[in-house]
Amino acid sequence: MKKTDVAIVGASAAGLMAAVTLRKRNPEKSVTVIRHVVKTPVPCGIPYIYGTLKRVEKNIIPDENFIKMGVDIKYMEVNAVDRENKSISFVDGTSLSYDKLILSSGSKPFVPPLPGVDQENVFVIEKDPLKLQKLHTALESAKNVVVVGGGFIGVEMAEQIALMAGKEAMKESRITVSLIEMLPHCLMMACEEEFCIQAENELTKLGVTVKTNSGVKEIAGQGKVTSVRLADGTELETDLVLVSIGAVPNIDLANQCGLSADPRKGILVDEYMQTQDPDILAAGDCASKTSFITGKTSGIRLASVACSEGMIAASNLYDETKRRNLGALGAFATKVGSQSIAAAGLTSKAAADEGIEVVIGEATTPNRHPASLPDCITEMKAKLLFQKDNGKIVGGHILGGESSADMVNAIAVAIQTGATAEELATMQYATHPLLTASPLFYHIMLAAENGAIQLRKAAKQKKLSREAA
Ligand SMILES: Cc1cc2nc3c(=O)[nH]c(=O)nc-3n(C[C@H](O)[C@H](O)[C@H](O)COP(=O)(O)OP(=O)(O)OC[C@H]3O[C@@H](n4cnc5c(N)ncnc54)[C@H](O)[C@@H]3O)c2cc1C
Repeated sequence: MKKTDVAIVGASAAGLMAAVTLRKRNPEKSVTVIRHVVKTPVPCGIPYIYGTLKRVEKNIIPDENFIKMGVDIKYMEVNAVDRENKSISFVDGTSLSYDKLILSSGSKPFVPPLPGVDQENVFVIEKDPLKLQKLHTALESAKNVVVVGGGFIGVEMAEQIALMAGKEAMKESRITVSLIEMLPHCLMMACEEEFCIQAENELTKLGVTVKTNSGVKEIAGQGKVTSVRLADGTELETDLVLVSIGAVPNIDLANQCGLSADPRKGILVDEYMQTQDPDILAAGDCASKTSFITGKTSGIRLASVACSEGMIAASNLYDETKRRNLGALGAFATKVGSQSIAAAGLTSKAAADEGIEVVIGEATTPNRHPASLPDCITEMKAKLLFQKDNGKIVGGHILGGESSADMVNAIAVAIQTGATAEELATMQYATHPLLTASPLFYHIMLAAENGAIQLRKAAKQKKLSREAA
């Protein structure tokens, strides 16, 4: 039987990050990363295969850099883990013994129990180049596409399918793309309502029909889909349905080897990414999560979270000083048409649902200075949520130019370090005429100052009421 010091099941965000971390920190340890797909697609790049890159092969994480670092990458399905003998076995009958095991087996698309969902031409997004190619081939001849689910994957897919069809075909309705979302708006789980509406407007401009507040009741057809029936009775003729309503943790191996796992939460891990087996850790979409803000179970499954967890798991294997996972924050960015939308932490709805009272500081200013500069977005908007009782930032939302993602990353750091409105208002930021807003009108600073003023007013009011009582 072959041997490795560390076996990692899964060669995507969490697994590859774990492998690289180990090779850097413990170069004396051998690392074998296993995947059951021929190549690893860039998971977040998948939508862009269809309208922008045009080919699945252009969206692959190259193995070379990892191999150069001494990571052994194996293409084979693991069908069992033998915890007692510390070995894993593969579908071809071979096995590999390990000293430590990291499970980073990711997630699978959630397939709802809808009538007709198992028909030909009903697709889900699987992170497998062969299946992504199959979807590409089917989309090439599809005339009426229905995307079910208006989360970020559904929105990005609808946009890219419209681009793949081409402006003329969409304009002349030779090809139609419909996006069906059950909630009042697309992207609502992560973004503020007004930003969601902007994203929907961008999709509409591209010719996508956006139907919100709409549930799918049935996918009709005789083995091959012909229409989608909505709960309100509407029937949409279609020859391709793409279901993208979320992902569930892949806990197959954990179940097989008796590790505690929950079909919704994932493989149960502690804050060190440790399972109940001292030699097995889990990271990424397959592992259980808590929210950074509320400490409650979280369903946030993102590549950024997976990478962070992969790094924590790998560094905790042999180091005395353990790294702690403080929880999933949910920092997210997307681009729809000409709008970039980014969010970190709570939305105002999520804050209200959690009973967290917030004040909201907003700023809408140009993203260049002077605003007469070419390509200036005159109405780039920042919306920051501060907890009313302590002034700490718990959410941030940016709409506008491509710098939205990096600005929200700064906000994500601020949330994770517990920065307050007062601190964010008086911090120093890099500004440049061609790259950012003016230092007089820098979005985060201004929105934080607006928040700080409200917080002071609220504190003063509270004091007065106390004195009066
Ligand atoms: C279309 C799309 C767009 C996305 N966009 C974004 C984005 O913009 N930003 C963002 O942060 N996140 C995004 N995500 C989410 C992100 O892709 C996931 O959070 C991330 O891929 C999780 O990484 P992971 O390593 O935990 O698991 P996965 O990427 O699911 O990888 C799992 C790995 O495990 C392997 N595996 C599983 N079982 C076995 C087995 N039995 N034997 C061998 N190998 C096995 C697989 O082969 C694979 O290598 C997107 C997801 C999708 C589908």
